[in-house]
Amino acid sequence: MKKENVTRKQKREEKDNFKAMHELIRILQKYFPGLVALLKEVQDPRNQSYITYENQVILLTRILGTVFRITSMRKLTEEFTETIVVNNIGILSGIAELAELPHYDTINNYLARLEQTELEKIIQKLVYRLLRMRTFEDSRIRNKYWQIVIDGTNTFWSNERHCPHCLTKEHKNEDGSIKYIGYYHNALETKLVLNGVIVVSIGTEFIENEKPDVTTQDCEQNAFYRLANKLKKAFPQLPVCLGLDSLYAAAPVFDLCEQFGWKYIIRFKDGSIPTVAKDFHALKFMEADQTFTLIERAPDKDPSKDISKTYRYVNHIEYQSHFLNLAELTIQDEKYPFVFITNLSVSKKNCAQLIEDGRRRWKIENQGFNSQKNHGCELEHLFSHNYNAMKNHYLLIQIGHMIAQFFQHILTIWKNINSPDYSIFEILKRDFFNALLSFQILDDIKSLNKRFRFK
Ligand SMILES: [Zn+2]
Repeated sequence: MKKENVTRKQKREEKDNFKAMHELIRILQKYFPGLVALLKEVQDPRNQSYITYENQVILLTRILGTVFRITSMRKLTEEFTETIVVNNIGILSGIAELAELPHYDTINNYLARLEQTELEKIIQKLVYRLLRMRTFEDSRIRNKYWQIVIDGTNTFWSNERHCPHCLTKEHKNEDGSIKYIGYYHNALETKLVLNGVIVVSIGTEFIENEKPDVTTQDCEQNAFYRLANKLKKAFPQLPVCLGLDSLYAAAPVFDLCEQFGWKYIIRFKDGSIPTVAKDFHALKFMEADQTFTLIERAPDKDPSKDISKTYRYVNHIEYQSHFLNLAELTIQDEKYPFVFITNLSVSKKNCAQLIEDGRRRWKIENQGFNSQKNHGCELEHLFSHNYNAMKNHYLLIQIGHMIAQFFQHILTIWKNINSPDYSIFEILKRDFFNALLSFQILDDIKSLNKRFRFK
């Protein structure tokens, strides 16, 4: 048999033998082994004498809804009625012969009363464990710093007030009169970058007004300081490198990073700090060896498609009490350069990598946030009218998205199956809805001790 045929046969066999649900369980066992126990231990908000479902059943049902990309609570209840699904979620929750799964009203009532901090603690514990695994050591910037990117995301919008904590925005007509008032909710998210592709939530801060008639509304900058303090408190020893938008290129952010011992790589625009921009543009041409050009060859190795990339950097620009380093990349035929401001030292050796690390933030924005919005997690979908429940839905979506990303990015099978993202989760859902799970199967999967190979 020709070599090519063997490979094709092997691929077909691998595909035929592939059991999506087993792989999901393998991922849960390996990367999130404490999840069910943590869900079980949350401070139960309910009156203990009327409990039908244990904590972990309610929470795991909601989390798996995200993993399977089920887009509304009504659909979740509709789809999670079959005996096999009820059994499987029961087994994963540690319960044999679970009779039924909670209706979405039950889930929403529960989430309306659950303290948000209960889920925040779980996210922190899951991330803490991932950080301690040796698997992701290569993700560190300069072999030391974990990259954490921060960005705001809209979670709700309406032209009617939804709750006392809504942010508001006046939309005006051309003559300046008020056309309508928009009511919305935003969250500021910190995401930890693992292996360049997996981005997991490490902390969330909701941007919200205390009451309807505040004189100054809450905003992203305020939320940033709350979030940074929360992160420092939860991970005091973590070597952090923040990846931030140009909005954050300002003295108070430098001060905070200095105080916390954090590094940062922040997008810089001339308008961010004009005096620093002026110094940088003047100094960048002074030292010849602080400018260099690299040629990027196209994948087909055709020299006529070469792209030249010119790098310039300047260290030690004084600004208030800080010494700032700036690095710039100009790509041939592109109008605007990429400029980053950082408290990491820049040299000819590390300049290109620094800019690559800085630019990763924008790639992640597409992945971490847009995929939650556009590809099935439905972050902007209103899962509940109750504000507290909304926030808890958001946090459970973060947990679901974490698990989903591992499923999507660490299984090598997808190279052979060659399918777009959504069908990966369709395959998983189909398997989970058709293959009966038992405690014996959980043990068998555990004893396989098969290793994951990263892409
Ligand atoms: Zn509201």
